Amino acid sequence: MLYLTVPFEQKELAKQLGAKWDSKEKKWYVENQNDYVKFKEWVDGCIIVKDNFLIVEGQQSCWKCHKNTKVYAVGVLSDNIIDLDRPTVSVQKDTGYDLQLWALNDEIPKKIREELSTKFGCKFKYSYTEKRSYFANVCFHCDSLQGNFFLYNEPDSPFGYMNDSELTIYKYDLKEDVGSWLMLDRSISPDYFYLRRCKFAEKS
Ligand SMILES: [Zn+2]
Repeated sequence: MLYLTVPFEQKELAKQLGAKWDSKEKKWYVENQNDYVKFKEWVDGCIIVKDNFLIVEGQQSCWKCHKNTKVYAVGVLSDNIIDLDRPTVSVQKDTGYDLQLWALNDEIPKKIREELSTKFGCKFKYSYTEKRSYFANVCFHCDSLQGNFFLYNEPDSPFGYMNDSELTIYKYDLKEDVGSWLMLDRSISPDYFYLRRCKFAEKS
């Protein structure tokens, strides 16, 4: 199920296309995942995330104390994404990745951010490099900010495709599917299978 953002003057059109009215939430919605694309102009986002979000745990050596610390990214399986600009193309084939990963950022759903801060130690931290505070990974040992660039932007960084270290996945089922402005990464051409190096974990 997916909620839509339908302007009042377009409600008849949405209804004709098959949208249903949720009188409790006072919102239009679509029931069937196969129908979502028909309603794309009322989806708040460039992609739709179906079924679940993932918190993905990797490891790196802290730049400051040099101890090993856990670091986190947010992910969605490519099979669970509808790209609204290219809805007929498989996201796996289009991007090369079986799993889409994002740095911690403002587009991450609130529930996932709450999990990251209450259970995984992520927090708002001031970055002297970027001269602003942002929601980030910190070292478990010395509390230093683990900057986004070193975590995600290099191919051999913990979540990069040239790093073969194990990743642990925590799965969070969505009550309803959601639109999102998270961007897909099309920077590699050969297929890369993250799931080879992932194990699924139970939440503690
Ligand atoms: Zn440290």
